[in-house]
Parts: sequence; structure tokens; C-alpha cells
Amino acid sequence: ESKHRGKNTVSFFSADMTEAKLRRLELSDRLQASVLEGMRGFSVHYQPLVNADTMRIDGAEALLRWKDESLGPVGPDEFIPVLESYGLIGQVGRWVLERAVEQCAAWSKARSGFIMNVNISYLQLFESDFIPFVKQVLDESQVNPSQLVLEMTESYFVTDLDALKTTFDRLRSLGIRLAMDDFGTGYSSLGMLSQSPADIVKIDRMFIRNIDGEAFNRSFIDAVIDLCHSVGIEVTVEGVEEPTELDTVRSIGADCIQGFLVSRPLSAADFEERFLA
Ligand code: C2E
Ligand code: MG
Ligand code: MG
Ligand code: MG
Repeated sequence: ESKHRGKNTVSFFSADMTEAKLRRLELSDRLQASVLEGMRGFSVHYQPLVNADTMRIDGAEALLRWKDESLGPVGPDEFIPVLESYGLIGQVGRWVLERAVEQCAAWSKARSGFIMNVNISYLQLFESDFIPFVKQVLDESQVNPSQLVLEMTESYFVTDLDALKTTFDRLRSLGIRLAMDDFGTGYSSLGMLSQSPADIVKIDRMFIRNIDGEAFNRSFIDAVIDLCHSVGIEVTVEGVEEPTELDTVRSIGADCIQGFLVSRPLSAADFEERFLA
């Protein structure tokens, strides 16, 4: 097909590339300014984590938001990689952790043992002061380490497992739990679950789509849950949007449910009003 388009395809394609590069440059510029100006435009939203047995809200996942004056709201899937490549993720990640743990302390007063999940970039794990920092944040807000779950995308568990093993071990020996996020999107096999340092596996939301029609997706979730349970790993299913999906994942034994069906991520004030009032 491309040979029929000839020259035009080439110029169109390279113009497109330039546009993407320009967008990235602009983002990095604006993000840098936001960080320098005391995290202006950044906020943390919270999405409920629901216990599949009791259907009670046991905790929340902290999700970073950013709104720029001129660019408007930009999603984390777009800006997190920019923060990572411009050396900003460490500072922003520490800020998210502080906000989320403070929030956890506040919400623990009404709900003792409230769980807070925080997403971590693998780059943060290579910072020499990361563990002392996490420990200090927990100490200062008097949150029990067992209330904190650090989420990392599956691919980091696989590619950097040797380099990260001591860091994972130290975090776990403090009592902090680790979650493998977006499971099924990376390259890990089901067989690797038995050696995984994760306490929790979060199955990516692509597998919940059409779960009641697509036999593979249902079998995949079913198999992951069985394997995880056999080695003591808890399973969260992400992206539950439909009541029928909820029924199905509860019936196959998921431990925790997350998705728009229960709620989209909300500001702290809205979360409190809706779920903790
Ligand atoms: P994630 O950690 O897998 O977070 C779940 C994402 O799925 C969130 O997108 C959430 O809004 C979305 N989601 C939840 N339930 C549903 C549903 O039922 N349907 C659909 N379609 N989507 C649902 P969000 O907030 O845009 O975050 C995207 C990703 O950005 C996160 O994926 C995480 O990898 C990253 N991220 C967000 N906050 C942070 C952060 O503070 N630090 C780092 N390093 N990464 C973050
Ligand atoms: Mg996550
Ligand atoms: Mg995820
Ligand atoms: Mg993700």
C-alpha cells in the first residue's frame, strides 16, 4: 500500500514525527516549569480499591494528574515518560508519595488500616535514598508500612529483576507490599509468578474487556488467579466497568476490584464525600 502513496507518505510521516517531538519538547518545558514552581498544576486523584468478598472499600490507588495553563489537562500515560526522560520523576514521585501517605493517615482515622497504593517508576528504585525516604514519610505520618502498596509495571519486574532484587527485599522487610501492575502486557510468563517478589498482581484491564464473550480472556484471568493463590499472591482485577464483568471476576475468585463501575479516580475531597462521609 505504501508504495502507491509514494513521496507524499514520506513527507507526511516525517512531519508527523516532528509534531510528536515538538509536543514532547513543549511538555518537558512546561513540566519543568511546573516542578520549579512548587508542583503547580499537579494533583493526586484517588480511585477506590474494592474488596471482592465484602464489596467494601479497603483503600485507594493514588493517580497523578497534571493540568497546564496553556496545554490544558495532560494524562499520565503521556507525561510520566517525559518526567522520566528529563530527570524529573524522582522529585515528582516523592511528592506523590508524600501526598498519598498523608491522605492515607487522614483516612485511616475513619477507616483503620486504610490501604494506599502508589505507582512508582523503576527509576525511583535506583535512587540511593529511596528506601530511607519512604520509611521517613511513613514514620512522619504514622502510617503502618502494611498500609502502603508500591505498584510497578510488570516489565520492570522482569527486565531488571536482578538489579532490583535487593531493593524489593528491603522494602518487603520493612513490611511494605509490592504490586505488579498491568500484568499480561509485558513479557513475563505465568510460570514466573512463582518466583515473583510481588505480593499482589494487578491484571491489566485489557483482559476484562469482553470477558463474558472472549473465552481466552476469562481463562487467562482464571489461570492467573489460581496460580497466584497457590503461591500466596493476591489478585486485583483492573478496569471493571460493567456489572456482568464484576459478577464474573468475583465468581472466579479475584481478591480486589478496581474500575469505573465503582468509581473513576476522584479528587481527595470528592473521594471523602462519596466514600468516607
Ligand atoms: P495504572 O497504574 O495501571 O492505573 C490505572 C489506570 O487505569 C488509570 O489511568 C485509571 O484511571 C484507569 N482506569 C481505572 N479503572 C478503569 C476502567 O474501568 N476503565 C478504563 N478505561 N480505565 C480505568 P490514569 O490515571 O490515566 O493513569 C495511567 C497510568 O499512568 C497508570 O496506570 C500508571 O502507570 C501511570 N501513573 C499514574 N500516576 C502515576 C504516578 O504517580 N507515578 C507513576 N510512576 N506513574 C503513574
Ligand atoms: Mg497502578
Ligand atoms: Mg494498571
Ligand atoms: Mg499502567
